[in-house]
Amino acid sequence: MAGPFEFVQIGVIHSCYKEKFAIPRQPGLVAAQTATLELLPPYNRAEAVKGLEGFSHIWVSFIFHAVAPGKWSALVRPPRLGGNERVGVFASRSTHRPNPLGLSVVELAAIESSADGVLLHLIGADLLDGTPVVDIKPYIPYVDSIPDARAGFAPAAPVARMQVEFAAAAQERLERERERLPQLQQVISESLAYDPRPAYKAGAAGSGGVRLFDFDVRYAITGTRLMVTAIVPLADEWDKMNRLLARE
Ligand code: SAH
Repeated sequence: MAGPFEFVQIGVIHSCYKEKFAIPRQPGLVAAQTATLELLPPYNRAEAVKGLEGFSHIWVSFIFHAVAPGKWSALVRPPRLGGNERVGVFASRSTHRPNPLGLSVVELAAIESSADGVLLHLIGADLLDGTPVVDIKPYIPYVDSIPDARAGFAPAAPVARMQVEFAAAAQERLERERERLPQLQQVISESLAYDPRPAYKAGAAGSGGVRLFDFDVRYAITGTRLMVTAIVPLADEWDKMNRLLARE
């Protein structure tokens, strides 16, 4: 059989990561980050996940839906190598591959089954909001964990090297959101500590913004210090844009 093969989407990810840049480059790096995997009909039945509650972790096979199709090359530049050195696409976990298939091992915090369907509560997923899921499998330590395996150019977890601080305006916003989103500060701190800039820009000073939850999280970088200058609700941005458009 040579394909093409067809897959059905069995679920969808809901996560705080609304764009690619703030997402850690592998799962498990941001402990405060929670996401849900919603099973879609006809797979959203309690029977389909019966027994899964006994596993603390699962493998999630998903589609890199936010990558332009057909854009891959045999050599890629993994961020781990500073974005300069190249390795084969199949020696990497690059999102630009012949088939846009991603694979993440994530912690399964809880399974919620109701008349409305099935939700898997995940911790530490490196997945974009809206990511289509094509398969779920239990993580089985005796087969899936090989502690003394060699790991090429990625021998250890990346270092969260940015010191994340919050300016007064940002702190104020955190205060205001504390009840609704108690994990907001920790998710921002832990995610941005991995440096949201593309690898080739690492080391350069600069400012930028990433979308987390429903906020534009703005930051300024000097050296290894990342100051969160503002946390702007996106609704405010829309209001501003609409006001500007109305004035034209
Ligand atoms: N653990 C997975 C993903 C590694 S790449 C694997 O090894 O296959 C991780 C990057 O994928 C993240 O930094 C994020 O920017 C990107 N990503 C996550 N979900 C995505 C999606 N739905 N479409 C495109 N890119 C995505």
